[in-house]
Amino acid sequence: MKNARSCNKPVPPQPDTKPDHDWWVFSTCIGTVELMLRCAKTDAFAVVPNPTEEEWKRAYYAPKNPYRWPKSEYGRVVVKWMAGAHRLVVG
Ligand SMILES: [Zn+2]
Repeated sequence: MKNARSCNKPVPPQPDTKPDHDWWVFSTCIGTVELMLRCAKTDAFAVVPNPTEEEWKRAYYAPKNPYRWPKSEYGRVVVKWMAGAHRLVVG
């Protein structure tokens, strides 16, 4: 996967490579078809673009039943907000 995005964005979305997050799916964004995740440790916010149909269906119930995002899929997590910095990355 190439990460050569255009330079007009101040901070391009970055894949979450830090294993110390504890991502939980808590909602979905219907407009962009992304899963919405929050880190239980650092309160960071992230999304997972292009979820599978199965993931999307499960996440539909996440507002009532949040669930832990599997570690094996952390490479697909795109961090939008980092706790402390609170920097919005417009994807
Ligand atoms: Zn975290």
